[in-house]
Amino acid sequence: MSKRLPPNTLASIGDGALPLYAHCLRCRHWSPVKVLELAKRFGWGAGLGDIAPKLRCLSCGSKNCELVTRKPKESRCSRCGRPY
Ligand SMILES: [Zn+2]
Repeated sequence: MSKRLPPNTLASIGDGALPLYAHCLRCRHWSPVKVLELAKRFGWGAGLGDIAPKLRCLSCGSKNCELVTRKPKESRCSRCGRPY
């Protein structure tokens, strides 16, 4: 059993140790973001939950985004293999 700490703040993620992705919950667009740049804007003590509402989707302009440390899985049609 290993303890898993939820990555709540930028400091807990570290500068570049883990990848960070902004994921749009509206159109499913996602893009990698740099922890260092977020830290410059919001500070190392900023929580992911505080930063996420301030981000805007580059694709649809929605502010309904989340920050994730794992690449969001693409949903693909099991029959044709196309993302949807
Ligand atoms: Zn979007």
